[in-house]
Amino acid sequence: MKKDTRLTRAGTDPHNNHGIINPPVYHASTISAPTLAGYAKISAERYQEGTFAYGLDGTPTQLAFERAIADLEGGDRCVALPSGLAAIAVAVLAFVKSGDHLLIVDSAYTPARLLADSVLADNNVQVTYYDPMLGKDIAQLMQPNTKVVFAESPGSQTFEVQDIPAIVDVAHSRGAVVVMDNTWSGGYYYRPLEHGVDVSLQAATKYIGGHSDLMLGTIVVKAALYEQMKSTAKVYGYHAAPDDCYQALRGLRTMGVRLERHQSSALALARWLETRPEVNRVLHPALEACPGHEHWRRDFEGSSGLFSFLLNDQFDDSAVTNMIDGLALFAIGASWGGYESLVMRLHPEDSRTATPWSHQGALVRLHIGLEDVDDLRDDLTAGFERLTS
Ligand SMILES: *Cc1c(COP(=O)(O)O)cnc(C)c1O
Repeated sequence: MKKDTRLTRAGTDPHNNHGIINPPVYHASTISAPTLAGYAKISAERYQEGTFAYGLDGTPTQLAFERAIADLEGGDRCVALPSGLAAIAVAVLAFVKSGDHLLIVDSAYTPARLLADSVLADNNVQVTYYDPMLGKDIAQLMQPNTKVVFAESPGSQTFEVQDIPAIVDVAHSRGAVVVMDNTWSGGYYYRPLEHGVDVSLQAATKYIGGHSDLMLGTIVVKAALYEQMKSTAKVYGYHAAPDDCYQALRGLRTMGVRLERHQSSALALARWLETRPEVNRVLHPALEACPGHEHWRRDFEGSSGLFSFLLNDQFDDSAVTNMIDGLALFAIGASWGGYESLVMRLHPEDSRTATPWSHQGALVRLHIGLEDVDDLRDDLTAGFERLTS
């Protein structure tokens, strides 16, 4: 079956649920057994799919969601987590201990850097940030104690598309694993495990939920890594709420059609922005001007609704603020992936360390929602008039 067909049924089992199409929402902390021996058995088998000994192990609702995401991303098992950031923490903490070394892409989601620079640094884990455009040359940064190479492709602020297969080859030849943040593609336009990545994670908060009303993270792995992921999630007490899993599963059913619209509207606007005299450069993975565009074309099946553009450097802060604050259809806020358009001014110069951000012009990120694209273009056109007036 093709991916859109699979998305309509992944994780469901109606004939074991009175014929009802969607899985029920189970709320659980205690999960009881009829006898001590029965409890010992479910405890011993708690990492087997479909066995639950306590609420933290999950519920059938969580499992339905996890099965659907594992199917989407082409892995064996998924671990649902309370947020995308929890997924980042678990995926990294499952592999590194004191004395180990971790490589993190310089364009990574900024809170991932906070984890590295606080908790990991405090626990004697050595961290090196690397240029997102390093492919096989990442070999020069590998150390004997490098356990994880953390990738995010494209970066969700500056949109460099990484050469993941080259990075995977180097990491695996040195005994390290590759963890990739796959949030931008929704798992619909890119399946990291098929490119050799060991752990694919997403903020399901974004495109999978799709309606700006829930927070969830997902980790997808082959069977061999599942227990390591799940047991790490349990050590930290992470649990994905059943109602959120249900809502995310509901969001997932329409993700293919939503992403098609996000894709076409974002591409139309990105190409239009390239023609605007106020714009220096559009950073959209499907456009040639984007660093790593050739990797996107080789490896991805499409593009989502999030991209950035750099304004020319003659506009001062107050003009840029005027442009952004006056937009009627673009909400100012983080956590993209919903049906509504968003705008944010970003400051990569504040976080990047391996590859200092030297552009002078303002960097503006758009999330293109499901509104009519002509209305969005009109709103942006009025924004450019405010910018230049
Ligand atoms: C939002 C985001 C996260 C974190 O997800 P939350 O659910 O908000 O914790 C991680 N990575 C990327 C790329 C994101 O955009």
